[in-house]
Amino acid sequence: MPVRKILQYPHPLLREVCRPVDEIDDEVRIHIRNLVDTMRASPGVALAAPQIGVPRRIIAVDVTTRCPGAGLIVLVNPEIVAKGRMKTVREGCLSIPQYTADIRRAETVTVRGLNSEGKEVFIESSGLEAVALQHEVDHLDGILFIDRVESIRSLFRRKKPGP
Ligand SMILES: [Zn+2]
Repeated sequence: MPVRKILQYPHPLLREVCRPVDEIDDEVRIHIRNLVDTMRASPGVALAAPQIGVPRRIIAVDVTTRCPGAGLIVLVNPEIVAKGRMKTVREGCLSIPQYTADIRRAETVTVRGLNSEGKEVFIESSGLEAVALQHEVDHLDGILFIDRVESIRSLFRRKKPGP
């Protein structure tokens, strides 16, 4: 069962700048499968490779449970190439399940990367999916949502750990 343990803050690997993927080989394909399976088994809508202990630039996002029809996005070496207007959103993280906070994120993004077959793709996204893409790309640079909290007053402790 390729479901991995999700690393919890303050695990040092969550602060690493992850290495780009040179080639989609068998090892990378296994990382992708583990990432997607672990995300699906979790209460969250997205996951980055460092969260399962793999410091490589790979992310998975699937907001279909909240936005029907969205579908699975797997991106290797993702890069945000365009951003729309900023808005305030409520965020949490599977690696910091005790807290949520208000964060400024772009409403829309264009992300360039490779898909799981190694083909270059451009993804234009909005809403929850766009927010999740920005959150996951941050993970690849060792940035966590708590680094982007503008006001400590917006940081809330959850009653029960969750997504
Ligand atoms: Zn996260």
